[in-house]
Amino acid sequence: MTDSPFHVIVIGGGTGGMALAHGLKAAGISVAVYERDRTRNSGLHGYRVGINPDGSRALKYLLPGELFDTFLATCARGPKYFSFLKENLKPSMTLPLVVEDDPVNTEKSVSRMTLRQVLLTGIEDIVHFDKTFTHYEKEEDGRVTAFFQDGSKATGDLLVAADGANSRVRQQYLPHATVEDANIISITAKVPLTPATKALIPEKVFQGIGLVVAPKGYSCILHSMEFGWDPDGKVKNNIGGNDAALIEQWPGLLFDNTRDYINWGFWASTDKFPADIMKKRPEELIKLTLDMTTKWHPDLRKLFSLGDPQTCFAVNIRTSVPIDQWSPSNITLIGDAIHTMTPGQGVGANTALRDAARLCRNLIAHRDARMTLLEAVLEYETKMVEYGYAAVKESKKQTSGDQPINKPYIGRLALLGMRGYFWLAGRVPALRQKMAEDLYLDRGGNREEY
Ligand SMILES: Cc1cc2nc3c(=O)[nH]c(=O)nc-3n(C[C@H](O)[C@H](O)[C@H](O)COP(=O)(O)OP(=O)(O)OC[C@H]3O[C@@H](n4cnc5c(N)ncnc54)[C@H](O)[C@@H]3O)c2cc1C
Repeated sequence: MTDSPFHVIVIGGGTGGMALAHGLKAAGISVAVYERDRTRNSGLHGYRVGINPDGSRALKYLLPGELFDTFLATCARGPKYFSFLKENLKPSMTLPLVVEDDPVNTEKSVSRMTLRQVLLTGIEDIVHFDKTFTHYEKEEDGRVTAFFQDGSKATGDLLVAADGANSRVRQQYLPHATVEDANIISITAKVPLTPATKALIPEKVFQGIGLVVAPKGYSCILHSMEFGWDPDGKVKNNIGGNDAALIEQWPGLLFDNTRDYINWGFWASTDKFPADIMKKRPEELIKLTLDMTTKWHPDLRKLFSLGDPQTCFAVNIRTSVPIDQWSPSNITLIGDAIHTMTPGQGVGANTALRDAARLCRNLIAHRDARMTLLEAVLEYETKMVEYGYAAVKESKKQTSGDQPINKPYIGRLALLGMRGYFWLAGRVPALRQKMAEDLYLDRGGNREEY
């Protein structure tokens, strides 16, 4: 073995990779991140990500205190309700979300680009952009060397795959761990938030999250995102003193082009879309959404038509095929690299953050000689495989093309059954309350960890 200090190389500077780097850096563990994007604001990073209590708890554990406060200050206004809607925009049921003073135990909305800029803050020196990982090799002394497309390489004692759903590290390390189509296509776009666009959605949907459940298994999610800064990037007048100072001092604002918006995401099973859907231009995707929703409320269709083409894209939703746990080594994986999931529960990023915190905690135990490296990796992977694959299965159960709601005849019955349940819950406060509490606990509310 070498005399050099224990060094971790992380492939992928996304949500999980950068959060892990923060935790390791703060613990004094040498770490470097290699990201294929060319610059800190390249890539398509505009969409909304919901951070649940699991995700916030992990960020609180991993980020320096002031940066966690900056994360909180740069989130959009938090959602207060979850409304199930019909395609005529009438609510079937509205669930009040649990809102607590504790900054960890509530739902948050963040823009992915903003989260990226927050996570980069303070680790600019250890994140290397324009480094596309190609493969790794094991050295004679047991260390691992990662190779990059530009001919450069990096060696470490532990290699962490945080390179997302198409992970090249996973393809080499666990070639039998595959990812399959979930038979769902989603089209998403952002609409600038103005008084006119705000008026297109009901007030409680504006104050929360709206989920339209329509015939043929067509669905649409609506999020309204209001930030603490105005279109010129200046702190808004209604923002409190501490948050205002945090936003003003935060260097990421210079790189972040996020402004207030409404995010819509429309999805259906793949067979409902033309075969060339993934090749369509943004304007064609918006037109297709309008063509598929001719009987929907005119305000919703207006919202679709106002989608900014520069922010519109289609996603072929994919899901990991769970595998049996493997023997630990000095290569491990976090986030989508090992458990890509459908957006059914909105927990992909949150699970990546949870992985990062758990792995970080074990690597600190290794540094303190309380665990060998293999014990640290084994304990992390044992837990991660359990909760990560459970989330994959649960998400697939909620959103996949194989659900009854997408089938020709039983789909109508499934929709009727779902609406009947919402109708009942809308009239029985105890049932509604139970649904809200279950949702809160499922998403990590009050979970003890780290
Ligand atoms: C439209 C949309 C909405 C979503 N909403 C939510 C939500 O509300 N809540 C939620 O929890 N999750 C959500 N997700 C899922 C979430 O974005 C992912 O689960 C999460 O980003 C996974 O984090 P990660 O760090 O594992 O991977 P990523 O964040 O995808 O990061 C992987 C990084 O690796 C880099 N990379 C890839 N290949 C290489 C290579 N060869 N070399 C070097 N670098 C490489 C990529 O450029 C990227 O930066 C959403 C996803 C989408 C598409």
